[in-house]
Amino acid sequence: MAPAESPAHREGAHGTLTGAVIWDFDETLARRPGGWRHMLVDALDLESPGHGVTATDVEPGLRRGFPWHDPERGHPELSDPDRWWANLQPVLRGALVQAGVSEPVAERASSRARFEYTRLDRWAVFPDTEPALNRLRELGWRQAILSNHCPELPDLLAGLGIRDYFEVVLTSAAIGFEKPHPEAYARALHDLGNPHPVWMVGDNPEVDVAGARRCGIPGILVRRPAPGFDYAPDLATAVEMIERGSAGA
Ligand SMILES: [Mg+2]
Repeated sequence: MAPAESPAHREGAHGTLTGAVIWDFDETLARRPGGWRHMLVDALDLESPGHGVTATDVEPGLRRGFPWHDPERGHPELSDPDRWWANLQPVLRGALVQAGVSEPVAERASSRARFEYTRLDRWAVFPDTEPALNRLRELGWRQAILSNHCPELPDLLAGLGIRDYFEVVLTSAAIGFEKPHPEAYARALHDLGNPHPVWMVGDNPEVDVAGARRCGIPGILVRRPAPGFDYAPDLATAVEMIERGSAGA
C-alpha cells in the first residue's frame, strides 16, 4: 500500500497528519530473557560464583516493591535516575536475602543491578520488531513508546538500534506514572499532540490494552492471547489490524 493510501495520512481538522501508534517496550518490542530474576542471578554470579541460587529462588522477593506494582500511586519524587535505582535496591537486596544470600553479598550484588539490567548484550529485539516499525514508518504513522521501565530506556533503545523510529519515548521512571495510570496515557497523548487515529500495542492485557481503552485509545494485545482482547500473534498482524481498524476513522 502506498503511503498516501494509509489511514495515517488522513487530514486532521487543521490539515495535519496525525495518526500515531504507541508501543509498549518490554516483551513487546524487545526482551531481557528472564527479566529481573535472571538479572539478579547474573549479578550474584559476579559476587559469589557457585552460589547455587536460581531465578526461581529470587522470584518471590520480586513480586512487590517495584514502582509498577503500585500503579495507582504517582512517584514524581523518583524521576531522578539515581533516586529511582536507590529506591529499588532494597527490594533487590531483600529478594536475595529471602533466597538465602548473606546480607553483605546481597548488598553488593544488588548494587550491580543498574549496570546488569541495562547491559545491551542481555537484551534482544524480537525478529518482527524492525519490520513492523519500518512498515508503520513507510505508511506515515508516527510512533511512540510508553513503558513501565527504568530510567535508562532511551539509551537502551539507542544501543539496540531502534531509537530513531520513535518521536516520543516515555519511561515511567522519568514521568512518575506507571501504566495503566491515566496520567501515563495522558502524557503520551499530550507529547504526540493528541493524534488521531491513535493505537496502543502491548503484551499486557490489563496494563497496555484495558488501561489504554479506559483513556479512549484502542489497544491491540500481542504475543500472548487473553480472552476478550483484540489480539495479534505477531507485530506484522498488529500493523495490519491498525491499518484496517483505522480505515474510515
Ligand atoms: Mg510489556
